[in-house]
Amino acid sequence: MNPSPFTYHRAGSVGEAIDLLREHEDAGVKLIAGGHSLLPVMKLRLAEPAHLIDIGGIAGLAGISAGTDGLTIGALTTHRALETDPAVARHAPLLAEMAAKVGDRQVRARGTIGGTVAHADPTADYPAGLLALGAEMVVQGPDGERTIPVAEFFVGFLTTALSPDEVVTAVRVPALPSLTGTSYQKLANQASGYAVVGVAAVVTLDAAGACADIRIGVTGAGDHATRAAAAEDALRGQSLTDEVIKAATDRADEGIDLLDDIHASADYRRRMVRGLARRAVLAAVERAGAK
Ligand SMILES: Cc1cc2nc3c(=O)[nH]c(=O)nc-3n(C[C@H](O)[C@H](O)[C@H](O)COP(=O)(O)OP(=O)(O)OC[C@H]3O[C@@H](n4cnc5c(N)ncnc54)[C@H](O)[C@@H]3O)c2cc1C
Repeated sequence: MNPSPFTYHRAGSVGEAIDLLREHEDAGVKLIAGGHSLLPVMKLRLAEPAHLIDIGGIAGLAGISAGTDGLTIGALTTHRALETDPAVARHAPLLAEMAAKVGDRQVRARGTIGGTVAHADPTADYPAGLLALGAEMVVQGPDGERTIPVAEFFVGFLTTALSPDEVVTAVRVPALPSLTGTSYQKLANQASGYAVVGVAAVVTLDAAGACADIRIGVTGAGDHATRAAAAEDALRGQSLTDEVIKAATDRADEGIDLLDDIHASADYRRRMVRGLARRAVLAAVERAGAK
């Protein structure tokens, strides 16, 4: 199916994009970056914006920079760039691991991290990892710039804390402490590659090898990505034996209102969340110990 007719605008700067968002708010307006989430829903006529603002040519919105406090990833950075960038491999290997598992080559070449977080698909990969990494979103609106901690960003089905006249300009990922390991485990939908369930774990060990800190992010299970707080609490401060990890990750679905749809039943998702959380924590612990 073809999309409804729309007027195409090409923004030369973030400020211009914000002005256009405000100007056309009443008629229906959308930003477009890689187009790999927006165009499919426009073709299905689930979204019918009268105006499209292309932000793909805005200078300075793509690219990755590494500092002592972590990584700053421009909103237009593609999945492929995250998959292959040496600074990401060094400072946030979890993101490279996730990027490599997004869709297929074409999707990875066009899709952007800013588009992924703004779209907030409940089965997108990055939200789980960004929750586990404790990232923050840098956004710009008519009143200037603000940062939104990831824990406050994803609020519901395809819904974020962004205002309609705000643009995501970057994602900031803090530097990981030493003795930290990360892992992303995903059961992919065989047709699209989206996560039926995906679990990311970031584990920091203390000098004795016990769990100093842990964050577990879950995607695909509920209507938005979330932390597995009960499992985290059961692991923090503990010696990470197989039994302790199994008992804790059997609580990874606690607090998630599990989706039940054509892709998987709620009960299947529950078992996947628990099993993938266990695998993610085990792999992260092994990687933390290897450093
Ligand atoms: C076949 C297929 C398979 C896929 N498989 C996966 C997968 O396995 N895992 C996965 O996570 N994703 C998957 N995706 C989605 C893909 O990763 C998209 O690229 C991504 O979700 C959206 O990024 P985009 O740049 O294409 O955004 P767009 O489609 O351009 O935009 C998406 C939404 O975000 C808004 N937006 C875009 N950029 C910004 C910004 N900077 N600030 C504010 N709002 C913005 C747009 O207005 C729109 O509402 C798949 C897509 C396809 C078509």
